[in-house]
Amino acid sequence: MNNKSVLIHCCCAHCTAYTVKYWQEQGYEATALWYNPNIHPYMEHQSRLEAMKTLSENMSFNLIVIESYDFIEYFRRVVGHEDERCALCFDIRLNKTAETAIGLGIKNFTSTLLISHQQKHDLLKGIGEKLAQEFGVDFLYADLRKRYSDSRHITKPMDLYRQQYCGCVYSEWERYTDKTIERSSNQ
Ligand code: SF4
Repeated sequence: MNNKSVLIHCCCAHCTAYTVKYWQEQGYEATALWYNPNIHPYMEHQSRLEAMKTLSENMSFNLIVIESYDFIEYFRRVVGHEDERCALCFDIRLNKTAETAIGLGIKNFTSTLLISHQQKHDLLKGIGEKLAQEFGVDFLYADLRKRYSDSRHITKPMDLYRQQYCGCVYSEWERYTDKTIERSSNQ
């Protein structure tokens, strides 16, 4: 197992660009992973995936696409627990990332969610570290929030599709109304 290898869960092209560059600059062999059953509806998921594929070609990094779009599993876990939906969502995606890393012999995993100002870092870090223990791989944490503009600087000339909401139908509804769905304090 290469200690300087990392599997990066990718939520979208715009968060991925600088994140991949960052881990490469730290000396890691970086592989990107697409697995986002939280992105609704399906054609929105496909638009973001196409942007991701174009980015990987333009930046020449390896992209693994998990073909199953497990949105039913996402809803089975979240419905009735909407106030905890982000924790459940992180867990589904990072679980697949850790499991895939083990299968590929990649020593570390992380997520592009760590470059977003919209996401809860303490929650992500806690879930990443819990999964690291379960799977026996290491979770790499870095607070990249100040570098989001660098990421956009990379993707802007590529004119890639850019989403207007986080991913799930709940977040889309919040984005286009002035309403929010109540969440527990750790969300
Ligand atoms: S708001 Fe974003 S992180 Fe939270 S559940 Fe929806 S898609 Fe996942």
